[in-house]
Amino acid sequence: MDFELLDSLIQSKKEQFWEMSDQIWGFAEMRFKEDQSSRLQMEFLRNEGFTVEEGIGDIPTAFSARAGSGRPVIGLLGEYDALPKLSQEADVTVKKPLAEGAPGHGCGHHLLGTGCLEAAVAVKDYLLEHPGQGTIVYFGCPAEEGGAGKAFMVREGCFKDCDICLAWHPYSATFASVSSLANARIIYRFTGKSAHAATSPYLGRSALDAVELMNVGCNYMREHMIPDARVHYAVTDTGGDAPNVVQAHAEVIYSVRAPRVDQVCELAERVHNIARGAALMTETKVEIQVVSAYADVLQNKVLDNLVYGHMKEIFPLDYSHEELDYAEKFHAVGDPGDWTLYQTMAAKIMGENGKAFFRGAMADVCVPPLPLKQGSTDVGDVSWNVPSAWFGSACFALGTPAHSWLAVAQGKSSIAHRGMTGAASVLARTALELMERPELVEAAWEEMKEAKKNCEYRCLIPEDVRAGSF
Ligand SMILES: [Zn+2]
Repeated sequence: MDFELLDSLIQSKKEQFWEMSDQIWGFAEMRFKEDQSSRLQMEFLRNEGFTVEEGIGDIPTAFSARAGSGRPVIGLLGEYDALPKLSQEADVTVKKPLAEGAPGHGCGHHLLGTGCLEAAVAVKDYLLEHPGQGTIVYFGCPAEEGGAGKAFMVREGCFKDCDICLAWHPYSATFASVSSLANARIIYRFTGKSAHAATSPYLGRSALDAVELMNVGCNYMREHMIPDARVHYAVTDTGGDAPNVVQAHAEVIYSVRAPRVDQVCELAERVHNIARGAALMTETKVEIQVVSAYADVLQNKVLDNLVYGHMKEIFPLDYSHEELDYAEKFHAVGDPGDWTLYQTMAAKIMGENGKAFFRGAMADVCVPPLPLKQGSTDVGDVSWNVPSAWFGSACFALGTPAHSWLAVAQGKSSIAHRGMTGAASVLARTALELMERPELVEAAWEEMKEAKKNCEYRCLIPEDVRAGSF
C-alpha cells in the first residue's frame, strides 16, 4: 500500500475538514434534527463525486454517500448530533455558554462524523490514483445520543450490503477497541386522578407518588442485580408545580444497561414489574414504552488487530509546545479521576512500563484492544450484523469528562482537529488494506458468525416504534 500517497492526499485536504467540523460544532443540532449538519456533509460529498442517497432508513437526517466499485464494501459510520444544554464558548477554561440552555457538542460527534468523512474522501482519492476493487460508503448516522439512530438503520437494512463497518470516537485517550453495555431507554408514564390536596385529597390518586415509589423500588432492586448492570433514571414530568394539587400525571425515563442484550431484557422486565407494582399501590395506571435500545459492541479480533496495527503507525501524535500549553490549561481544571483511571488501566495492561503513561496533559500511548464494556453506543447494533471495529482517538486534554462543557470548549482546537485527522488516517489505511486483502474480510465474517452461535442479535426496540418518536 502506498502510504506516502495516502498521507499526502490527507494532508492536502485536512484544513477543509477542520473547517467542516468547526461548522458542525457551531450548528450543534440535537438528535434527529441534524438538518444543517447532514446537508453540509451531503453537499461536500456530492462535490467530491460521491453518489448520495438522502433520508435512508426513513430517517430524514440519515444518508449514505458511496464511491468506488465492487467488493468489499467498507462502511464508515459518521455521527453529528449534539447534547442538550451544553452550549459553551470555545477555548476558555470556565463554564460560559454561548446561548443559555442551547445544545453543544459535548461528545465530539462533530469530529466523529467529519473524521469518518475525511477518511472516505481520502480512500476515494487514493482509488482514483491506484484503481482497485472496493466501494467506500460514508453513512451519516443521526441521533447516537439517546435516539439509537443506527439501531433503526440496522432494522431498515441500511447496512445490508456492507462487508465491514468502521468507526471511531473522540476521547481524551487513544485506544483500540473496547466493548460497550447493551442499553434500553424506557419511558414510564403514570396517570392518576387530580384533586384538591387539602380539601379532598382522598378523591385523588397521585401519579407522582407512583413515580417516587417506583424509584424507591428500583433502588432496592440494585442489591439483587448483576454487578455490571447499570440502572439510572430522570423524572421528566413531576405533574406540575403546585403542592396543593394531587398530580394526575407524572413520567420517569429509565436507562437499563447490562453487558448483554438478554440481560437487559431480563432486568427491564423486573423494572416494568416494579412500575406495575407502584401503579397498583397508588391506584394509578402506567404506560410503558421502550423508545430506544442499543446492543453491546461485538468485538472482532481480526479487525481490532488490523486497526491497532495502523493506530500504532499514527499515534501518539507529536504535539507542539503551544498545543501542550493549551492542553495543560484544560488538564488543570479537569477531573483527576478521569486520568488516574487511565493510569491504573495502563499499569494493569502494560505492567511496569504502563506506569510511565498518562502523566502529562495529553494521552501519550495507544492502548491495545481490551475486552472492557463501557458506556453504550449504537455501533453495537451494527457490529452484530456486519463485522465492525471502532477505536478512540485523543482529541481532548486528559481529565476531560465525556458529555461536559470542557469537551465542548476544546472542540475547535488544534488538538481536536489533529486527533480527528489521525483517526481519519487510521480508518483510511484500514479500509484500503481490507480492499487489498479480501481474506481478512472473510476471516472477520467467520469470527462474527462463530460469536453469534452463542448469542443471537435482537433489537429491543418494538416494531411499532419509529425513529425520532423520542
Ligand atoms: Zn459519543
